[in-house]
Amino acid sequence: MRYRKLSDYLKEKYGERVQRIVIHGGFTCPNRDGRKGWGGCIYCDATGSGFTTEASLLIREQVLKMKERYEKKGIRKFIAYFQAFSNTYDSPENLKKKYEEALVDDSIVQLSVSTRPDLVPEKVLDVLEEFKDRVDVSVELGLQTANYRTLRLINRGHTLAEFVDAAVRVKRRGFELVVHVILNLPWDDALDVIETAKLLSALSVDGVKIHSLYVVEGTELARMYRSGEIRICSLEEYVDRVVTFLEYLSPNVVIHRLVADPPREGTIFGNWGKSKLELVNTIEKELERRNTYQGKKFDYLNR
Ligand code: SF4
Repeated sequence: MRYRKLSDYLKEKYGERVQRIVIHGGFTCPNRDGRKGWGGCIYCDATGSGFTTEASLLIREQVLKMKERYEKKGIRKFIAYFQAFSNTYDSPENLKKKYEEALVDDSIVQLSVSTRPDLVPEKVLDVLEEFKDRVDVSVELGLQTANYRTLRLINRGHTLAEFVDAAVRVKRRGFELVVHVILNLPWDDALDVIETAKLLSALSVDGVKIHSLYVVEGTELARMYRSGEIRICSLEEYVDRVVTFLEYLSPNVVIHRLVADPPREGTIFGNWGKSKLELVNTIEKELERRNTYQGKKFDYLNR
């Protein structure tokens, strides 16, 4: 393979296929409710970035329901994945209760929590640490770009330094660290993509989720897109950016995804009208055509 795929990594680590169970933990986001900011990141819709699972079900019910569905397909190991909004935005007591509820039995081999860099204080990491003896713990942080000016323009509500601080503290605890990036933000260019790959490699992150920017109804980004204030790069340029990003990224980093998964409803622009599979194939073909691979240009750190 020309890049380190998540499915291969999970098979290596757990000896068989592992399925992620997506959970809605009933969290909100401080970048939407006024604690950090109002309205959220300019691309985020009211569901917390395209989330669809039944939020009305209790956490335990959500896990059991999905587990049963996957078990019929012969899958026996699962990751409890708290995805929507900011999954550390609660008191330590409530967090502990919610995470505990998701660990329904021994088939759950990993607890995975997606959150913002400004929501991982030591007391939250202490809660996660309590689960480390029973399951692997993974923390996902949204960064999106190393360009701190773009972070401001997309209304992230945190800076680059705050991300670095969070990443270092998550790693220090021995948790797996996965970072989300968007490689075609309209304000970024190829240099920003390279710098983002270098930053994540320097921080020894364990995994990366690469997203393609999409536009959904009801967001500030939708307004900008319709008014012509922003331009989304071509598919060719996106593919070029992903390939470049992979070339500069450490070969140790696991690639969780290469493109975003726009919601079925309300998407104004998403993945250039292509399916996720088509896009992934296009990127893989381009890696082959250039005879290149993840880490080809990973020679810039003093190690
Ligand atoms: S941090 Fe996440 S949930 Fe909050 S506004 Fe941004 S994308 Fe949405």
